[in-house]
Amino acid sequence: MELKSLWKQFIRRITVIISLFTIGMILGLFIKNNQLLSREVESRAKSHFDNILLTRRWNANYHGLYVEKTEGVLSNPYLNNPDIVSSDGTVYTQKNPALMTREISELAITDSLYSFHITSLNPINPDNLADDFETNALKSFEQGEVEAFQKFIKDGKTIYRYMAPLVVEASCLTCHAEQGYQVGDIRGGISVNIDITDIESAQRWNNILIFMLSTLSLTVLLVITYLFIRQLMHKIAQNQSAIKALAVTDELTQLHNRRFFFEKLSQEYSRSIRHKRNMACIMMDIDFFKKFNDTYGHQVGDLVLKRVAQVLQEKARATDTLARYGGEEFVVLLPETDESGAEIFAEKMRRAVEAEVITTDDNQNLQVAISLGVCGLDWEALSNCEDETVIVKYADQALYQAKEMGRNQVQTYHSSGDKS
Ligand code: GH3
Ligand code: MG
Ligand code: MG
Repeated sequence: MELKSLWKQFIRRITVIISLFTIGMILGLFIKNNQLLSREVESRAKSHFDNILLTRRWNANYHGLYVEKTEGVLSNPYLNNPDIVSSDGTVYTQKNPALMTREISELAITDSLYSFHITSLNPINPDNLADDFETNALKSFEQGEVEAFQKFIKDGKTIYRYMAPLVVEASCLTCHAEQGYQVGDIRGGISVNIDITDIESAQRWNNILIFMLSTLSLTVLLVITYLFIRQLMHKIAQNQSAIKALAVTDELTQLHNRRFFFEKLSQEYSRSIRHKRNMACIMMDIDFFKKFNDTYGHQVGDLVLKRVAQVLQEKARATDTLARYGGEEFVVLLPETDESGAEIFAEKMRRAVEAEVITTDDNQNLQVAISLGVCGLDWEALSNCEDETVIVKYADQALYQAKEMGRNQVQTYHSSGDKS
């Protein structure tokens, strides 16, 4: 698979993974947030219920409390003898747990804190009649349920309702024994109503905040990942092209190497035949280089190779392919160039190398010469070749001829076999 599509696939996968992870996180936080608030509401309602129960128990332990019957204080009409008169003539009336519960409930409503309702399936006081929710809850308590919940909207407010049973305790029997109750019996229940509009709105805002922060984090994470991957891709592409360049470059002279030359030769060969164009090739070899090496050493030999390469490079056109063919041999491919053009070019290079004075580190001035073999073929000759390497072979033959004829000269390959 190509690197680019591999990266694209990687980016797609990482996006899906991060998105799924973030969506999972958002859902988890939503659920946790909602659970926390539900538990908070529930425990608030339960604690109201427990407080009421505690107050009732306290009252029942004293078999009902007596308060002075001042103006506005009413007697409980459901008690047989609610009022008593003290020795100084003050009238006191009994506030039994049921009446006390109702009066506290009325107070709570006035203060808009919460409200609660004491009820049973057979209430003595018609005000304590159970509504639908309470009736169902009371029936479920008889089946063993211990709690009931409800949430509803009333006058634009969200109300949470909690209900639990009232279980007969020993202190209740003082007054309720004649009704046939026994300890442990369920004789009704108390429903607690709390306005949770504010809590719900806070919960909504929490959810919005969670969503926004998570989306922001997801976006930032994706952007950072994308930028990082892009940077990485850029770096890899850079390294790849550097490696590619290294693979086709000669380390010493920095010219193209033989491999690159043959790749280019193959392309240019097909192109020349296709477009019916000429093509020329020049092989070059430094004269008496072995002797040169032996006299001045390999290091100086390397320096000469580099300088000759530079001189040749300066003369070559952008469309020419100059390469180090091997040792002290160079080759240049000239597309769209005929034999005479290549000869002129070869002579130009010969002169340039001959004229070049190379100064060594210990200030010796050295000069070298090159022999050149030229081969220029038109498209017909090219198409008659066995393959593209033939032109190189012919140029090499011409080079051999140049060496034979005394070196430091240009010789041209002629198809007739006559080399001049
Ligand atoms: P001719 O004129 O016939 O070409 O003679 P020549 O001595 O140049 O040819 P020969 O093939 O006998 O010797 C080529 C020498 O080039 C042999 C080798 O030491 C030298 N040579 C090849 N590659 C390098 C290189 O990378 N660095 C150096 N310093 N010398 C090299
Ligand atoms: Mg040689
Ligand atoms: Mg040589």
